[in-house]
Amino acid sequence: MRVITCIKQVPDTTQVKIDPVTNTLVRDGIPFIINPYDVHAIEESLRLKDRFGLHTTALSMGPPNAEAALKRALALGMDDAVLLSDRAFGGADTLSTSNVLATAIKKLSQDRPLGLVICGKQTIDGDTAQVGPGIAVRLGLSQLTLVDRIESLDFLANRIRVRRKLEGRYEIVEARLPAMITVVREINQPRYPTVPMRMQAGKSPITVWDNETLKLDTNTIGLKGSPTWVSKIFSPERDKGEMLGDGLSDPVGSTRLLMERLLAHDLLTA
Ligand SMILES: Cc1cc2nc3c(=O)[nH]c(=O)nc-3n(C[C@H](O)[C@H](O)[C@H](O)COP(=O)(O)OP(=O)(O)OC[C@H]3O[C@@H](n4cnc5c(N)ncnc54)[C@H](O)[C@@H]3O)c2cc1C
Repeated sequence: MRVITCIKQVPDTTQVKIDPVTNTLVRDGIPFIINPYDVHAIEESLRLKDRFGLHTTALSMGPPNAEAALKRALALGMDDAVLLSDRAFGGADTLSTSNVLATAIKKLSQDRPLGLVICGKQTIDGDTAQVGPGIAVRLGLSQLTLVDRIESLDFLANRIRVRRKLEGRYEIVEARLPAMITVVREINQPRYPTVPMRMQAGKSPITVWDNETLKLDTNTIGLKGSPTWVSKIFSPERDKGEMLGDGLSDPVGSTRLLMERLLAHDLLTA
């Protein structure tokens, strides 16, 4: 049985630059990493491999340099890796991204039955949290988001039981397999790749599929298949702020100034 882990390569910086004309990410000179939530997704699938002997596949859609993220996944212990890369896939929104990923997952399930798809909760660049649910809906998989613990997995009864981390509470949910889960950071502590594993991964081939392999209608992928687009990206304007006194050398004086200001603006009642 196969567990497929979807990983996205994202920019390793908080200083993301946006092209003011095209409103897209300036990728030149930016180091890339595996989306941090997806590292936890990889770790969880490796734990399932250790417990149940599942076959683990890492899957990514992206430009050719996304191979680096997949090599890292192999170095961590994934059994194989597939990169979906084609100019026709470029400029995709979440609808067409999940379309391409779901088609590849369907294809991968032909030679080995699918048990589970594991995604990160969201990415740190797109941040939409839509791709995992998009895959689940397209493939008719049970959809379990925000998972912080797999409570049980029963392949004979075809059931999975997970704990979902919601705001201020947990929820225990049981569903049928195959399922798609998205994971939060708290689910596990990821391992680091060993040097021999890294060297071995460096030599391991990555399977690359383009649209000649997936045979998707070009109206449903990439820019053409994306009904949404980014019209503008900008940082919100902030007021400059004002320093009241010198809080380090005179904290009492600064507090007095702050209280006076708050009272003057009727923000505190005396
Ligand atoms: C309105 C809109 C318009 C956009 N337009 C463009 C555009 O014109 N050009 C452009 O380059 N980008 C564009 N994007 C960004 C693009 O949609 C996203 O990069 C992509 O669809 C993934 O969405 P996300 O990053 O929000 O992933 P999320 O849904 O937050 O990711 C959740 C999980 O899904 C999996 N996942 C997500 N993406 C991938 C992937 N590529 N491969 C494997 N697994 C993945 C990972 O497990 C990840 O943790 C747009 C986004 C939006 C919302």
